[in-house]
Amino acid sequence: MAEKQIVLEIVTPEKNVVEDEAQMVVAPGTYGEFCILPNHTPFLTTLKVGAVRYKDKSGTERYVFINGGFSEALPNKVTILAESAERRRDIDVERARAAMKRAEERLAEAMRADAKKEVFDHTRARAALQRALMRRQMVEGGRG
Ligand code: ATP
Repeated sequence: MAEKQIVLEIVTPEKNVVEDEAQMVVAPGTYGEFCILPNHTPFLTTLKVGAVRYKDKSGTERYVFINGGFSEALPNKVTILAESAERRRDIDVERARAAMKRAEERLAEAMRADAKKEVFDHTRARAALQRALMRRQMVEGGRG
């Protein structure tokens, strides 16, 4: 008989963030958001910064921030390896606000610095800004 649940694991180099059963998983693929249902065809893809959302066994929607990575989908198991990740409920919104402010200040600073440093600082600051923005959106959007 076909399985009706998917085992979802989200891990980072630091911690196991999620180990749960899901009815459905939606993840931010590099080439667009994708949805995995039980008995899905196996595939491997890269992920961008964004939200993984899944419906748990009881039907509750859960949200997890992920800072890019890889996803391996087997018919009844999805493994996500992310650079960093946390469940929505574990996001410290004040920390994200502070990170956003720092990134904005660095972006302004990078505009004033010399050309080489500018590219480096600009890329890093933009990435930090994107992470902070996504974390804030997840909390302030009140999801999961
Ligand atoms: P910061 O500058 O605040 O450290 P960051 O985007 O550089 O933010 P990451 O490198 O993505 O942080 O993550 C480092 C660790 O801190 C990870 O364990 C991540 O889960 C955690 N983390 C980062 N920001 C937050 C946050 N706002 N709330 C909860 N955990 C966070």
